[in-house]
This record gives sequence, structure tokens and C-alpha cells, in this order.
Amino acid sequence: MADAPELFDELDPPPRLMMGPGPINADPRVLRAMSMPLLGQFDPAFTSYMDEVMRLLRQLFRTENRWAFLVNGTARAGIEAILTSLIEPGDKVLVPVFGRFGHLLCEIAERSGASLATIETEWGTVFEASRIEAAIREHRPKLVALVHGDTSTTMAQPLDEIGPLCRRYGALLYVDATATIGGMDVAVDAWMLDAVSVGLQKCLSGPPGCAPITFNARVEEAVLRRKRIERGLASGDATPANAAPIQSNYFDLPMLMDYWSEDRLNHHTEATSMLYAARECFRIALREGQSVRIARHELASRALTAGLSAMDLGLFGDQDHKMTNATGVVIPGGLDGEQVRTRMLDDFGIEIGTSFGPLKGRIWRIGTMGYNCRKQNVLACLGALDATLRQGGHACTPGAAVDAAIAVYRTAGQ
Ligand SMILES: *Cc1c(COP(=O)(O)O)cnc(C)c1O
Repeated sequence: MADAPELFDELDPPPRLMMGPGPINADPRVLRAMSMPLLGQFDPAFTSYMDEVMRLLRQLFRTENRWAFLVNGTARAGIEAILTSLIEPGDKVLVPVFGRFGHLLCEIAERSGASLATIETEWGTVFEASRIEAAIREHRPKLVALVHGDTSTTMAQPLDEIGPLCRRYGALLYVDATATIGGMDVAVDAWMLDAVSVGLQKCLSGPPGCAPITFNARVEEAVLRRKRIERGLASGDATPANAAPIQSNYFDLPMLMDYWSEDRLNHHTEATSMLYAARECFRIALREGQSVRIARHELASRALTAGLSAMDLGLFGDQDHKMTNATGVVIPGGLDGEQVRTRMLDDFGIEIGTSFGPLKGRIWRIGTMGYNCRKQNVLACLGALDATLRQGGHACTPGAAVDAAIAVYRTAGQ
């Protein structure tokens, strides 16, 4: 103890503005909700909060699905719950990959025993629906798994045609909408998405640690074939499944459904504070209104990209399919991208994102997400980047970036 007194210091995280592609600064209302008193998991007050969370989440996902609830764990817990519960060993699964998170879907599908087929497109582009259709026709998958917005490339895959396509060929469609929910449109029913999972730490402005999911009756039917009830909970013997048992107990959707239904069959202990956080995140997003929220992210994207262009910086990827809440910026030749990020953090307390895989060292990623997606933050980030780049030797007109972004906001009446 004597030789490590800092171990006993109070936590005192440095103030940061997190303008990367997530996680971002949590909305203070969410942090406040998380500090509310804990309740027992079967306390009627708590189970009524669970029901409220389901109702709010259906609205957020724009779905009539009965099943809309939380999986405990970060966003990939939601991915894993859906894929592990759906995929039986040997099932054909198609993953169109346009960035890092597509590869993650492959990795989880393979661990679940999938017979995996992939198609790939260059990072910075998305798929034409016809290309996905050709692959479905060739592979006849039971499941198509797809990312909506892949923050690794800052591209958003259009989904409205993919759902009907999967229906036509009898495939289920799962979508990871973690990076888009609360910032871009995610229309679960209108787009015929069979299962969707997200996280809180992007545009929903919460902490990482909770994965909201929804799925429809087609998915319900598929996973219920694999349902088992744990010995010690069933009234009789544990019921045998009609199909290969789901590998994971923690991510077993039928068990989670029993816990989130009126039966309230014991499973895990719901992460109380995270449920409070999710409820507050959903309330904040729905209170603002989805169309207002979507427009706010679009405006920030236009202001940010105008500012970046005014600094003579290149924008990464197919701009017609750019996410409105994340922007890839080409690192100018001769500049050390990591040094710029370090300077931004040290001098301004602003975090911007690095990148990985084929884009490592090639682009920065700037997020304008949820609570952080505001004029002040866009301007602060541009001003800081302007100063940092000029100190690093990049030739650009001082102040031009902020002026260009302000002009966009003024034109929009702000
Ligand atoms: C950020 C992100 C995740 C995050 O997963 P975690 O398990 O919460 O780290 C997942 N999918 C996509 C598409 C993302 O952008």
C-alpha cells in the first residue's frame, strides 16, 4: 500500500470529448439513471421496468415484434445471442463483408458451426442488392448476416431491398445496426429485417455493456425448435430439444425469452443499472423524435465534411453511402496520423478514431454521434484539427474549416 498510494486515489477520469466512432460521451441523464437504487430482479417494480424497456425498444426499432429486449454484454453479445441461437452446425450462412464488423459476423457464425459463404467488396464501398441476390441464389443460405453501418469503413449498406430479397429465397436476415441506431433510420418491419441487434455506446449515447435486440416470429419459430429448459427449473424433466441444442447457455434466446416473458423463468440476473441506462437512452431518443434525430446527424455530417474539405482533406469512401454519424478522413501524406491523434487528445482533450485492417494508418474516423452530435462539438473538433494539422506542417488556411462548417449550420438556420 505504501509503495502504490495511487491505487487508493479517487477515480478522476480526465474530461474528454469523444469524437471517435464510439464509444462516445454518455448523456448525463443516462449516467444519472444508472445511479438509481438497485432492485431485485423479480421485484414487481423492476419487472415493470423490463416491460417498459420492451415497449420503448419496439418503438425505437419501429417494429411490432413481440420480442424486443436486452442481452447483457456489449454489442457483440447481441450478435452472438442471435447467431448462436439460430445457427445449427452445418447451416449455410451468407455474410456479405464490407468492413471489419462483417468479418466479426463470419467469426461468430463459424464458431456456431455454420457452413459459411462470404462475398466481399472493397473497404469504402457497399453492395449492390443484385450482387447479394446472386450470392443468395448460388448458396441458398438459411441465414444472411449483414452489418448496417460498419464504423471501420464509415459506410452504410442500404437495407430496404435486402429484406424482401431474403424473403423471396426463404432466407432469414440478421442485421447488426449497432452503429446506426439512434442516428440513422433503422426500420425493422418496413425493411423486413428478421433479427437486429445493437449496442448503447454509439448514437444511443449510453455506456457500452448492453445489447438491445429484436426478432420476429420467423426467428422465434427457428430458435424454439432448439428450446430446452434447465433441469431444476422445469416442472418435469428437462425438455429435450428437437434439434441441436444451443451451444451457449448465457446467449440462449429461448431461455432469454422465458425470462423476459410473463413466465419470468429464472436465467441470469439482469444487469440492473444497464437496464436503467437503456431505458433512459430509449426515452431520450424517442422524445427527440426519430426524424429530428436523423436530420441532426445529417446536418452534422454536411457541416463536418464541408469543414474537412475546406482544410484540403480527402474524404474516405463512397460518399453516397457514407454514414451520417461517422466520417473517414484520409490522412495527408507526410503526416503521422497517430501523432495527430495524440496531440488532439493532449492539447484539446478531443479523441478522434484511428483505423485498422487495410485502413490502418490511412484514415482517421470522426464520429458525430448521439449526444455528441452538436454544432459546438463539430466546430471544436474542426478547430482543434485545423490547429493540430498546421502545427504538423499541413498547409491549409487557418480558420477555413470552422468557417465552412458554420456556414452549413447558418444555412440550416442554426
Ligand atoms: C461499434 C460496433 C460494435 C461494437 O461491439 P462491442 O461488442 O460493443 O464492442 C458492433 N458492431 C458494429 C457494426 C459497430 O460499429
